[in-house]
Amino acid sequence: MLIDKYGRKINYMRISVTQRCNFRCLYCMPKIPFDWVPKENLLTFEEMFLFVKVAIDEGISKIRITGGEPLLRKDLDVFISMIHNYKKDIDLAITTNGYFLKDYAKDLKKAGLKRINVSLDTLDPKKAKMISQKEVLSNVLAGIEEAINLGFKVKINTVALKNLNDNELISLLEYAKSLNIQIRFIEFMENYHAYGKLQGLKSNEILEILKQKYKIISSRKAQNSPVTLYEINDYTFGIIDPHSHEFCDTCNRIRLSADGLLIPCLYYDESLSIKEAVKRKDLKAAVEILKEVLRNKPEKNKWSIVDNETSSRAFYQTGG
Ligand code: SAM
Ligand code: SF4
Repeated sequence: MLIDKYGRKINYMRISVTQRCNFRCLYCMPKIPFDWVPKENLLTFEEMFLFVKVAIDEGISKIRITGGEPLLRKDLDVFISMIHNYKKDIDLAITTNGYFLKDYAKDLKKAGLKRINVSLDTLDPKKAKMISQKEVLSNVLAGIEEAINLGFKVKINTVALKNLNDNELISLLEYAKSLNIQIRFIEFMENYHAYGKLQGLKSNEILEILKQKYKIISSRKAQNSPVTLYEINDYTFGIIDPHSHEFCDTCNRIRLSADGLLIPCLYYDESLSIKEAVKRKDLKAAVEILKEVLRNKPEKNKWSIVDNETSSRAFYQTGG
């Protein structure tokens, strides 16, 4: 079992398999042109899998594949089946922008994947184009439907943004409700890299909007997850509120970047690379690095952009 120095049980690893993305979401990507990490600096799936096995043996029981856009990485289904076949009861999921989901959903199913989160911020094609800077909506909706039809457990992630999708939160909820899948509204997390000057909605503002139509019957913290679940009549939706003070208290996760950095916290610059260890197939060294990263996991994130001490990594690098 992996326990950090603040007594938190760490059982969840997010793996960013690529930094690349076919979208340029305003809240994630920088405005200025930038270079991707060159391909040769990325871990191969074999190298990642070596570390995944170490992490599972040490106590990781939940893995989420993310990016950049994970479906851009060739042979993702092979990587997923490697993990699935290593330990069938691993809670294995991906987060995707959904653009290529219709094409790849069958392969992902065959590989053993069961859960898919799709990011969807609007049901208006023009707004979708404005946010992602690409014509995307019809592909994303087709991907969601295909995944549901194939029997995946699908959830929708929506970043709630003032003057962008605040007038659509009810219709987005109703869209998810009509498909019998959960929607989770995410508070916008400020970061240096985001392209636009965006203002997010806080959880109380999201609730105020939804309460215009729905009565909230009850709420509860989800287990081992930063989500608060709210029940309305015959439906449950979630809000992820990283601005709340308790957010870090129950953190159970570490992150592996596509180029091999093991990152203890989204808003914290320190990390250690597992690259050399996995290239040498030195599993003992890999375990040591994992434990060292947990020793360095901070009690609270360093989020304060004002104090100039927040992380210099972008979400498309860490996987969000
Ligand atoms: N490309 C995939 C996607 O968009 O689903 C996976 C990577 S993306 C970085 C993972 C999640 O982070 C997405 O649900 C996205 O909406 C969220 N995200 C990105 N930037 C964010 C920000 N500034 N604040 C809150 N959530 C953000
Ligand atoms: Fe790409 Fe996802 Fe970032 Fe949007 S949020 S730019 S889809 S990585």
